[in-house]
Amino acid sequence: MSEIPKAYEPGKIEKKWYDFWLKQGYFSPKIDPKKKPFVIIMPPPNVTGELHLGHALTATLEDIMVRWHRMQGDPTLWLPGTDHAGIATQVVVEQQLTKQGKTKSEIGREKFTKLTWEWANKRREDIRHQHQLLGASCDWARERFTLDEGPSKAVRTAFVRLYKKGLIYRGERMINWCPRCQTALSDLEVEHKDIVGHLYYIHYPLTESEGFVTVATTRPETFLGDTAVAVNPEDKRYKKLIGKSVNLPIIDKEIPIIADDAVDTSFGTGALKITPAHDPTDFEVAQRHNLPLVDIMHPDATMNKNAGPYQGLERFACRDKVLADLEDKKLLEKIEPYSHSVGHCGRCQTMIEPKVSLQWFVQTQPLAKAAIEAVRDGRVTIIPERFTKIYFDWMENIRDWCISRQLWWGHRIPVWYCQDCGKLTVSVDEPSACTHCGSKQIIQDPDVLDTWFSSALWPHSTLGWPENTADLRYFYPGSVMETGYDILFFWVARMIMMGLEDTGEIPFHTVYLHGLIRDESGEKMSKLRGNVINPAEAISKYGVDALRFALTTGTSPGNDINLGKSKLESSRNFVNKLWNATRFILRSLDTESLEAQEIELQPQRIEDQWIDSQLNKLIKNVTRLMEEFQFGEAEQQIYDFVWSKFCDWYIEIAKIRLLSQSTPSPLPFLANTLEKSLRLLHPFMPFVTEELWQNLKQRLPDKGQMPASIMIAPYPLADDKAFALEAERVMDSIIEIIRSIRNFRAQYKVKPSKWIEARVYTGELLSSLIAEESMIETLAKVRPLTILGRQKRGSTKDKDSVLVLKEAEVVVPLAGMVDRLAEEKRLVKESEEIRERIAQLDARLRDKAFLTKAPSQVVEKEKEKLATLQDKLKRLHQELSQLSSSSADN
Ligand SMILES: [Zn+2]
Ligand SMILES: [Zn+2]
Repeated sequence: MSEIPKAYEPGKIEKKWYDFWLKQGYFSPKIDPKKKPFVIIMPPPNVTGELHLGHALTATLEDIMVRWHRMQGDPTLWLPGTDHAGIATQVVVEQQLTKQGKTKSEIGREKFTKLTWEWANKRREDIRHQHQLLGASCDWARERFTLDEGPSKAVRTAFVRLYKKGLIYRGERMINWCPRCQTALSDLEVEHKDIVGHLYYIHYPLTESEGFVTVATTRPETFLGDTAVAVNPEDKRYKKLIGKSVNLPIIDKEIPIIADDAVDTSFGTGALKITPAHDPTDFEVAQRHNLPLVDIMHPDATMNKNAGPYQGLERFACRDKVLADLEDKKLLEKIEPYSHSVGHCGRCQTMIEPKVSLQWFVQTQPLAKAAIEAVRDGRVTIIPERFTKIYFDWMENIRDWCISRQLWWGHRIPVWYCQDCGKLTVSVDEPSACTHCGSKQIIQDPDVLDTWFSSALWPHSTLGWPENTADLRYFYPGSVMETGYDILFFWVARMIMMGLEDTGEIPFHTVYLHGLIRDESGEKMSKLRGNVINPAEAISKYGVDALRFALTTGTSPGNDINLGKSKLESSRNFVNKLWNATRFILRSLDTESLEAQEIELQPQRIEDQWIDSQLNKLIKNVTRLMEEFQFGEAEQQIYDFVWSKFCDWYIEIAKIRLLSQSTPSPLPFLANTLEKSLRLLHPFMPFVTEELWQNLKQRLPDKGQMPASIMIAPYPLADDKAFALEAERVMDSIIEIIRSIRNFRAQYKVKPSKWIEARVYTGELLSSLIAEESMIETLAKVRPLTILGRQKRGSTKDKDSVLVLKEAEVVVPLAGMVDRLAEEKRLVKESEEIRERIAQLDARLRDKAFLTKAPSQVVEKEKEKLATLQDKLKRLHQELSQLSSSSADN
């Protein structure tokens, strides 16, 4: 049998196994009506982006769940796909055109769409490839794109259904407008940033008398669209002016002074200019008072004809000009610095223009009501639970959703306008004539739908809805929706609403939310900070398994994850450890092969009972943790078992047994523990576990009955009969004794080759420990070793070192152990250093200024430090006196 390579080289095995799994068809589930399937519909990455660590985390967590369920024998579907990402994609393709000196209007809609398709198809391939690199075991035969025919038909069908129910309407509403992208945006697509701006105080002259009303505004240029000045009816300063009017300066236009309860008397001067077409609050005031709307801007935010002399100016240039003109007329009273929150386009960062515009909306409240119910009655569970409250808060205050976008890339709105009768035809399939008058003069709405409209249908549209397909019947509703907590509202909430609306059923039972990835020190990763880790680079440096392990070990749902070089390195070290341990076991199996009957484990030795008990305990814990979605903790426990129990102790003890060829052989336990550990680890580290498992399988007597791949092997089940509490107690004690003697040797710098003497005093474990004497001797390098009952313990001489443990006391005579003079020098020097540090800390903790200024945690920390140092000093003194008394004896 050929040996496995000395060093683990991930690049050599990853592609080999992925291709093998793919070829075997393991990723495609078989529909079995007798079994309940496990289903994850992948939240589709945007075709715009390179795969970043967030995608790698999503893919890893989903693959962990999917591989685990597949190993449990569930028909498992993980359906992959990509999102056309309307506005984001259009922005990227537009930028490419700009580089070539072209614009999208020059090349026209058809050509632009064709170009975008080409670009998107290329990106979809890259994204598929990157998922495959990560080991994602998705069913590529069922891969979907949001613009595919199936999902597109679902979009049109959902639109028509909602329209017919009166839940989709077209109306003039205040929306967020991006002047650069020239499209409406939903509230969620707007990023709010705190801006240090100014508050400008402007005089509006009264029409009927001398004097003026002063208004305060952050956007003086919008005065051109003012249609009233509003004051609070209770405001004594303005009471007598209500019903009068002012004259807008420069453009000489008369507008009324009105009273409205909503005016905050403490803001600015208490008199509010009302610009209904460009401010959401003013829009509401205008609705109440029947004020006209005056739109003063073109879609690109340059001023239109309503801006009079300012027509043609860009909005910020207009502001400068307006301010200069007001100043000239002595109508600008003062300017104050003012911080406020301003919306920006989430895609291009241009400042949003709130604007009244004719758009399509979904009336969301009835849909939200059903979606709230589904979470409240437990049909859908959100993990971690704390996000449930956030979900309710958002859903209960939901506003109508603006779904039309003035873009070319996306699902065209299925509405046709009749040029003859003026009525609308709303249809899933393209109509040839107006359904009202039969006229052929119909024109389709030029706009497309918000990308999130198609995303909201994803869990059912990917399975074939609106057709009643076998996939939809079997795989819907899905099991888990796994995604970052930052898109709970964009996505998860809308999927629950639309899933319930279209199918009458929830789209999935569980929402699993993961945290954001931050760098080692907890800082957000960003190109600006230069702390971004590229997954492809991490894969080529550490291997996929190490990256997956680093991303998920020790993490918990909903909490942010810190990732840096050290975690990646320690994950790679773990893979290496596993590799080397397996290599040793494989070599041992090559020299001394296993017999078939040995697979039935008969633990005779205490360490065999112990490792088997520990292994089964681990299996039990891991199974529970996986069921509770605590994947990070499950991994941590497997890691601790493999490294600190199996490799550090069992294999070390087994090496001694193999070397002395003692019977019974530890080989069956080595093979069994390794084989089950590999299966436990497979969902987390698919590649290295397959490679090692296949090599192990070759050497096992029952290889004929074993599955062709670890990924279809059953996940280990715990055997309660293997639990051996007494064996664990004895082994724990043995390990503690050996560890304490090893620590002692390290502390006194005893040469590794040197045997030292030790006595162990113990109670109930006496006979068990005596039986394992040789194990302690060899592993702690002690000779002679005497194990005695506690009652035999006489007075210990001062020159003996006493190590007090849980179930035993270890006494090591110091005589002849160390070079006393050198040791004494070292101890004296260390004591002096510590004394100095104690003095410094002490002075600090007496310093009144420090005590009053420093936060209490800092003071506490310093106190703790002081106590630790004082304790250490005491122990150093003890060691020094032990040393001098033993040297006096000599
Ligand atoms: Zn924009
Ligand atoms: Zn018509």
